[in-house]
Amino acid sequence: MSEYTECHLAVKTARFVGPHPCDTLKQIANTLNCDITDGKFAQHMDEHDPLKDLRQEFFYPKMKDVLGADLSIVDPEEDCVYFCGNSLGLCPKNTKKYIDVELDKWAKIGVQGYFQGEGMPWSKCHEKLDVDMAKLVGGRPGEVAIMNGLTVNLHLLLISFYRPTPKRHKIMCESKAFPSDQYTFQSQINLHGYDMETSLLLVEPREGEILLRTEDILAKIEEEGESIALICFSGVQFYTGQLLDIPTITRAGHSKGCYVGFDMAHAAGNVPLYLHDWDVDFACWCTYKYINASAGCLACIFLHEKHKHNNFPKLLGWWGQRFETRFNLNNDLDLCPGAYGYRISNPASLLCPPIKASLEIFNKTSMEELRAKSKLLTAYMEYCIIKKYGRTDGMASGHMEKTDANSQQINVHILTPSDPEHRGAQLSLSFSVEISHVFEELEKRGVICDEKKPSVIRVSPAPLYCSFNDVHRFMGYLDQALESATVTAA
Ligand SMILES: *Cc1c(COP(=O)(O)O)cnc(C)c1O
Repeated sequence: MSEYTECHLAVKTARFVGPHPCDTLKQIANTLNCDITDGKFAQHMDEHDPLKDLRQEFFYPKMKDVLGADLSIVDPEEDCVYFCGNSLGLCPKNTKKYIDVELDKWAKIGVQGYFQGEGMPWSKCHEKLDVDMAKLVGGRPGEVAIMNGLTVNLHLLLISFYRPTPKRHKIMCESKAFPSDQYTFQSQINLHGYDMETSLLLVEPREGEILLRTEDILAKIEEEGESIALICFSGVQFYTGQLLDIPTITRAGHSKGCYVGFDMAHAAGNVPLYLHDWDVDFACWCTYKYINASAGCLACIFLHEKHKHNNFPKLLGWWGQRFETRFNLNNDLDLCPGAYGYRISNPASLLCPPIKASLEIFNKTSMEELRAKSKLLTAYMEYCIIKKYGRTDGMASGHMEKTDANSQQINVHILTPSDPEHRGAQLSLSFSVEISHVFEELEKRGVICDEKKPSVIRVSPAPLYCSFNDVHRFMGYLDQALESATVTAA
């Protein structure tokens, strides 16, 4: 067994207590007799990466195709640095092939494709995918349905789980929720004749802090629980990359009689989830971020089995009806129990193939294995950034030695929690300078990441297709980009 695999297994089995990935990295660097920041180290890590072959399953964009890349400073034939899987994952190679099968079928046999022909019969094209998707988030078969878009699904779930009464009318969420989620809460509150001012309960970070503390969330649940109808946080916060303590928040909410749901847009396919065991009432997520199923592709809901036979209010459509009677078209509702009963329309036949292509790749590994790599990969990037650009005032965590940064240099601060258990793949970086110039200089070097003005850049090395060498190259490009920004600022 290679030492990488040993460390890898160590991280895997000790999911919540194992060595800090930084210590694992240091240990490997020691045996190699080199520094973690050396190219040799990245190369070694990639060679021993048990998941390295998965990159070949994707089209990885080339420098020459990146809009804004300056081909006089980078090799046009080289892979770009794609750190944007938190926004849109890369295209699996089989996606086009699987879509073509459905297109050809349509061209050849028209409506007969609903029940016959090659590929996925359109009347059932989501069936196997629902089960594979459930596995990805720790749901049981029947708890996850693929349908609609994410925000639409959040609305549909709130129709069931947000039924305010004068005594219990609040929705609790984080203060900087993704806009679409906040608009959903706002409009659902208004639909029931309540007011956002009094019914939307925001949990904010402490003064001068950026991250939410679990203890503050729990205190607020304890304090306000009796008036809360629904608690609905993001599993992983889109801006900071913070992974919340989902089981603890869920337990606390339930103890006060609240329903507890999560938006897993940035968590699904990024960190292992155990939605069933955690007893989460519901969850929803999209499939275009870490799940790589194409922009705006079908989204998902999770409805816990304990709500399988609920009689909650819900919006109905023919696709919620059992398959056996659906096509009788006699207007006798024969609703599927559980998540499948929340379906309304027939699924988009051309949007199931990309999900199939993507889940086939996830099925070659497991979320636990991906997570083991992800922890090392993100800790590696964190280590290199702090080492080079950490503030000189001692912000570095216990796992870091002194930074090499000097006081004239631009500083890079990492907003994301330094504890690997409280984050996924993403690091949110803030800079001591305005970032537009840095971002542009990165783009010139073929680094695709995303910019949140005025001062945050999010970088996410997705473990399915990103390598240690990508991080190593990124560090070189960041160096050049910051140098150029310093010259311009002077
Ligand atoms: C990406 C994302 C969305 C996007 O919603 P769509 O309905 O897919 O457009 C919503 N909420 C969160 C938290 C997200 O991260």
